[in-house]
Amino acid sequence: MIFHPLSEGSFTIDQTKEFVPFDTERDQLQERPTGSLLVEIQPFVVKTATDLLLLDTGLGFSVDGELQIHRNLRALGYAPEEVTKVLLSHLHKDHAGGIAYGEGADRKLSFPQATYYLSAQELQFAFEKGMPSYPADELQILVDHTQVRFVSDGDRIDGSIQVMHSGGHCPHHQVFLIREGEQVLFFGGDEAPQLQQMKHRFVAKYDHDGKKAQQLRQQWWEQGAKEHWTILFYHDIRQPHWSC
Ligand SMILES: [Zn+2]
Repeated sequence: MIFHPLSEGSFTIDQTKEFVPFDTERDQLQERPTGSLLVEIQPFVVKTATDLLLLDTGLGFSVDGELQIHRNLRALGYAPEEVTKVLLSHLHKDHAGGIAYGEGADRKLSFPQATYYLSAQELQFAFEKGMPSYPADELQILVDHTQVRFVSDGDRIDGSIQVMHSGGHCPHHQVFLIREGEQVLFFGGDEAPQLQQMKHRFVAKYDHDGKKAQQLRQQWWEQGAKEHWTILFYHDIRQPHWSC
């Protein structure tokens, strides 16, 4: 498998849940509100023998009228139409913002040939919670869409992609293990967002169940070492992936 991070840049986020662009060369973290987190936003594209997978979909921002995730894919030589599967860890706006684009009747899925895999409970939960965390209006397109498949803990997608419920970061968060030959890719979404959080015990206040998330990270870190996983980090500024 070949994989690439599709970086949408660095941002700070505070209690307002607003993602504010951050230039790591020029901006100072101290000048942002206290408690601001500095994160990268990077979905991943994975080329397997049979599929072009997308792991989460970014913020959904556009640059010069073009969706940033489309631009990033094209820069790597992939067309958005080539994506066959979109795997969604959860539906917070920085992960699901890019599922679709356009307004009103013109709104369409960003990956017209892809099947979108997500948790039905997470979608329900997103509608209950809404903003500032969940872009409920934007998620409406997923309801009863023929390209959507609901998956849950223990499901396997085409045999090679294992779905696991995690539920630490938000109650219905899911993670994915993708196997091909000897290679194992692990995508933990916001349960395993940055390398440092895998290496050090860290209970995050922003998680739904911080302790559970911490325990899961430790468990995956150990399992990953045994099984030689490559872990993909959605929010890591320096280290998009790590080979255990
Ligand atoms: Zn999240």
